[in-house]
Amino acid sequence: YFIDTIAHMNDQIALNTEQSHHITHVLRMREDDVIRIVDTSSQMYFAHIHIDGKHVFAHIDEMIEDHTKNKVHITLAQGLIKKEKWDFLLQKSAELGVDCILPFISSRTVVKMKDEKADKKRQRYEKILQEACEQCKRSTLVEFQDTVDLKKIKDVEADLKLIAYEDADHQSEHLYQVLQQHKNISSVLVVVGSEGGFSIEEVEQLEASGFIRVSLGARILRAETAAISLINNIAFFYEM
Ligand code: SAM
Repeated sequence: YFIDTIAHMNDQIALNTEQSHHITHVLRMREDDVIRIVDTSSQMYFAHIHIDGKHVFAHIDEMIEDHTKNKVHITLAQGLIKKEKWDFLLQKSAELGVDCILPFISSRTVVKMKDEKADKKRQRYEKILQEACEQCKRSTLVEFQDTVDLKKIKDVEADLKLIAYEDADHQSEHLYQVLQQHKNISSVLVVVGSEGGFSIEEVEQLEASGFIRVSLGARILRAETAAISLINNIAFFYEM
């Protein structure tokens, strides 16, 4: 569970209503059962719980060494896709250790950038991400940014900037070839298109700003499959 307070070893930490409900009603935990909590500095602890009616308190027992972060910082810039696929993509990206998600619209995006329910949607996305982070016991939350136009993506900083392009050459421009040539980096930005993919002009504009096009193989993947595959392959490559 992610908590706002900076934890001290002797603190009794009040969990919020939702977390308390999850512990008592969903997980059906009992007095003195052990949970993991993470404070604002991403430090993880084991804690035992004290239940007082509807309220749950955590008592810290020990610090846990964190092995949940990937070796490189991964930002996924993702063209907007339809609702169910978007929710799936957020959840799986969080599980695979993405650090930041930056949604964008481009010439072939069909989902609208702004709508009257934008604030509610954002809250829902952040909830999906937080629940996925808690479920997979990672120590950091995923940073979720505001939707931008694809043209703005070129201003994002990263050691290596990739654009996954469905028409890239699956041999000479394969992701693996490109990663092999960039072994000593600490951050990657990957750009994945929406259902309609990219126009060649969009790809060339990003290339002019230092992006490298990559292929994920000869098959055309769904946008969410491409994103998940990229995050996993990049994390795996830099782990070795
Ligand atoms: N029309 C399908 C859909 O509805 O999901 C396919 C979408 S595909 C065009 C969406 C994005 O996934 C592409 O813009 C690209 O970023 C990425 N992608 C899919 N297959 C790829 C591949 N073989 N190599 C590189 N990127 C790929």
